[in-house]
Amino acid sequence: MRGLRVLLFILAVMIAMTGAAFAAVDPVTMKLDGKVIETEVPPTIISGRTMVPAKFLFESMGGTVEWLEAARQVKIGYDGTEVLLTIDSKTALVNGNEIKMDVAPTIVSRRTLIPAALVAEQLGCKVNWINETRVVEIFTPDKTEKALITGIETEETSNGTYRVIIEADRELSAYKDSLYDSPDRFVLDISGAKLDQALIPEGMTEGSIEAGNEMFDKVRFSQFEAATVRVVVDLTGKAEGEVSLSADNTSLYIDLKESEDSGSGPSGNGSTPGDVGNNGSPADLAGTDIPMLAASMQDKLIVIDPGHGGSDPGSQGKDSSGNVLQNEKDLNLTIALRLNELLQAAGAKTYMLRSDDSTMALYDRPAKANELGADLYVAVHNNSNESSTPNGTEVHYYNKNMDRDYGYVSKDIADSVHQEIIATIGLKDRGVKSSPSLAVLNRSVMPAIIIEGAFLSNPTELVYMMTDQFKEAYAVGAARGIIKGLNASAEAF
Ligand SMILES: [Zn+2]
Repeated sequence: MRGLRVLLFILAVMIAMTGAAFAAVDPVTMKLDGKVIETEVPPTIISGRTMVPAKFLFESMGGTVEWLEAARQVKIGYDGTEVLLTIDSKTALVNGNEIKMDVAPTIVSRRTLIPAALVAEQLGCKVNWINETRVVEIFTPDKTEKALITGIETEETSNGTYRVIIEADRELSAYKDSLYDSPDRFVLDISGAKLDQALIPEGMTEGSIEAGNEMFDKVRFSQFEAATVRVVVDLTGKAEGEVSLSADNTSLYIDLKESEDSGSGPSGNGSTPGDVGNNGSPADLAGTDIPMLAASMQDKLIVIDPGHGGSDPGSQGKDSSGNVLQNEKDLNLTIALRLNELLQAAGAKTYMLRSDDSTMALYDRPAKANELGADLYVAVHNNSNESSTPNGTEVHYYNKNMDRDYGYVSKDIADSVHQEIIATIGLKDRGVKSSPSLAVLNRSVMPAIIIEGAFLSNPTELVYMMTDQFKEAYAVGAARGIIKGLNASAEAF
């Protein structure tokens, strides 16, 4: 998926270099489940994204498209997922959760054009870009593979424990449970599942059952992602939850009992908050092993700086004849957009210094973060050297004398990110480095780090860096490190 983005960015750069962003280039063809879609206006590329008329594509998929005139919004419904787009806004709501896009829906010749691939992905579709033939392929999710969650109820068992019962129309297998505090809650994410819309009140994105027993007040549930149902048990205090399957595997049970150690932190198997067991499939967000951000940290603002951009390409990965294969600015942006998505999904408040290929001066970056009163600054970069030999991953920080106590210092977050990202990226460990001379580190007042993923100047690493696997590993490792670092300081308080 991420490869599509990069290819489209490269394409956009190529178009820009010919001097006419909307020049007549070979047209883009869009295919839905293998069939060419004939739109009334051809797909258009804007800021490196294929834009199509919303109505045509999503109605072809069997979804609904509604134009909300007063709000200038487009509401797309498909298979239990609702995407709300606002004209000229890069923020979309997916089942009520904000996501950032790198291009905004727009109106051209009285037609609403939306970034097709981005929205289709949010609806659970697979999207491929075939560069040679300039085809965007969209595959709708196979509904037959998903279990339908048909009922959620609670009961008090004879031995004094409380149980939440989740029933499906077929076998359930992939799920992940997590325990969070402040407020105390037990969360179960069920992968490959759809929530029966009958369980959610009309016009709402979340359903709930009032329990009001001694263990929990409420059970809430929603279609958290296209193929993930989230069940949240709002606990009255410290409790342990145990998840099991019925004999025929079509029901999940959450058995709740009072926690034996009533201290803070998770109960049960001694793992860290939000990081209890994982049976989830690696294909979705639930499989990233990124814990939820502690509630006390959710008002912290994380500024994400996708290094370089616009007229500054950053480092360049070249082939043996000197042709540019990859600009650092595009790679950084793709990774940063994904990092932003992951951090927001984990409950973090974020701000992207750029979310498209725009130019931003180096000193303006920390200045903007200072102006916003940010609590953490994370710069996403990749490395380069005059020699093609150096390789590996490093994280930079600078512990400043701060006039405000953030509860953590730059090195705490750098160490946590370093530990996680070395594990996910899997390249040589170049360590954590104190770099007081780097502008974004010494001009920002809040704790700040710079991540240097790998070397564009190293031919072996460059090949890996251009894969989706690398970008995903970078974003997931960084997100996990940031969240864990912040959660550790929340606990230390
Ligand atoms: Zn850089």
